[in-house]
Amino acid sequence: MQEKVKSSLRGIIHPETQQNIVDSGVVEQVTAREDKITVVLCFPKSRDPFAVRIKSLVEQTLKEQFPAAAESITVVIKEGTPRAPQPKRESTTVKVGKIIAVASGKGGVGKSTVTANLALTLRNMGFRVGVLDADIYGPSQPRMFNREGYLPDAVQEDGQDYIVPAVSMDIELMSIGFFIQPNDALMWRGAMATSALKQLLHQTMWGGLDFLLIDMPPGTGDIHLTMISEIKLDGAVIVSTPQQIAVADVVRGVEMFRHEQVNVPVLGIVENMAWFTPKELPDNKYYIFGKGGARGYAEQVGVPFLGEIPIVQSIMEGAENGTPSVGIDEDVERYYREIAQKIVASV
Ligand code: ADP
Repeated sequence: MQEKVKSSLRGIIHPETQQNIVDSGVVEQVTAREDKITVVLCFPKSRDPFAVRIKSLVEQTLKEQFPAAAESITVVIKEGTPRAPQPKRESTTVKVGKIIAVASGKGGVGKSTVTANLALTLRNMGFRVGVLDADIYGPSQPRMFNREGYLPDAVQEDGQDYIVPAVSMDIELMSIGFFIQPNDALMWRGAMATSALKQLLHQTMWGGLDFLLIDMPPGTGDIHLTMISEIKLDGAVIVSTPQQIAVADVVRGVEMFRHEQVNVPVLGIVENMAWFTPKELPDNKYYIFGKGGARGYAEQVGVPFLGEIPIVQSIMEGAENGTPSVGIDEDVERYYREIAQKIVASV
């Protein structure tokens, strides 16, 4: 309603400045309901020769355009310096090469672990990489990259505010976890988390990244909608364990990105915790959670299969100790390289 009022008032031009009264800041405030509209007009001198005329033009326009409110239109003139509205700021993500969401149907399948290890693999391949941890239910990237407790600085440049990311192993890191206490998590769900995330998304001062990986919350929800509508995602990677692959949440995740109004390419599925090989039996593969499920599912729905990661102790330990396993275990890096190469090739 407020926007409708403003756009109807854009038709009124101040005779002296020749600018419309909304964009030049003369309209300082609009409060509007279907049956009641109040507009505050701000002029440098209350006796601006055109103030009274503009006021009556505003009243007349509103009465014509919003007949339901005709009896309750109030237009007030106030003296002050009209505030020119801020130009819409440009999102810092426009400077990022490729933005990839890492998603999963459910929590606990290793989505955050895969995000961190993929980031480090891409960095080892020579790319400049950033990670945005948007998992409001359990932001774990600060722990994975040993940056827990980091307090992001705010800086100003050309009158705009920016937030400085943490850096670990050359990877730039911004996390919703830097702004909440673990016990806050519940409170942050919903509107507040969404608006905080928008700020992280648009105001983080990334330093010329080739890839930004976004660790999404599990499932499909408001945060996904926000991400999809706020920025242009270049692709989505879906992480699943063998036993989770066929469940509805994974299917819904794939459908969400592929929806014709969303149109984010699903780059493929990563099967995590695919098998286990004990150290003393290096040639044995135990498919604890079932075999080949993700490959079959990917084929069935026409999504690429990116690769599989076994259950490895160093992966779990790396996640706990603040060094993604790729940094310390060559075997693990090999699995991730294969996946990362396919991702790079497809974007
Ligand atoms: P999500 O982000 O999907 O909730 P996490 O990345 O937090 O899941 O992983 C859940 C747990 O599983 C963590 O303790 C992590 O260390 C462990 N984990 C994930 N992938 C593997 C793996 N391939 N091998 C061993 N442990 C793993």
